[in-house]
Amino acid sequence: MRKNQAVARAVATGTAAAGAALLLARAGRPGRAAAVAAGAVALGAGAFTANAPLLGPLVRRGAPGEPLAALTFDDGPGPSTAAVLDALQRAGVRATFFVLGRQVERHPDLVARMRDEGHQVASHGWDHGILVFRGPRHVADQLRRTERAVEAAAGSGALTRLFRAPHGFRGPATWATARALGYRMAGWTAGVWDTAEPGVEVIVERCRRALAPGAVVLLHDADGWDPSRERGQTAAALPGVCDAAAGRGVRLVTMDELVPA
Ligand SMILES: [Zn+2]
Repeated sequence: MRKNQAVARAVATGTAAAGAALLLARAGRPGRAAAVAAGAVALGAGAFTANAPLLGPLVRRGAPGEPLAALTFDDGPGPSTAAVLDALQRAGVRATFFVLGRQVERHPDLVARMRDEGHQVASHGWDHGILVFRGPRHVADQLRRTERAVEAAAGSGALTRLFRAPHGFRGPATWATARALGYRMAGWTAGVWDTAEPGVEVIVERCRRALAPGAVVLLHDADGWDPSRERGQTAAALPGVCDAAAGRGVRLVTMDELVPA
């Protein structure tokens, strides 16, 4: 399910809930009607608000006072991942990659390289489909297929048990299923919106502002929907981003190092 389909489903569900609330109100049950309406609004807001705690706890921030932060890259591996890895290697920085299983199958060598160079490989699910309306079986399938792809690419143990839902959108089954399979769920403290390609300097400046102690910065080494899409600006920004972290006295580490399990 793509983002626009999920939003259409949410609107339909919200309309149905509003209809139910209206019927209850007409039937002389205003209290029950208000509860139905409030519940639907809260669940909808939680599902489509990334990093909202309503639908399960998230790993998203390091301990305050520790001069550590994490760069995270979603949606890869893709055509720009090698350039991202090159830049991180030159800066001596290790990061966390939330890989899509579908992309791992296309670029297994890049996942092996992430592992070899000390980066954390984490899960972003199989195909970037929105999980808000999906049940436990579908969520488990997304996670298990990605586990098998990473194992084939980089060996067992290469995939850490950290999962970031596509767009950060979660439904009632998302967290419970991920937890049952041994995952913690990841959020972030600052989105850079590098996918909009605002220019290298803008990406560096947004990262500089975001890189406070404990920060988890969301970047992209690929695109969730278009496997051919490049992220050249993000790769080109990384030397400046790593310098900015050093300038703020923050050491860049993986998410498992920032927030140990
Ligand atoms: Zn994504």
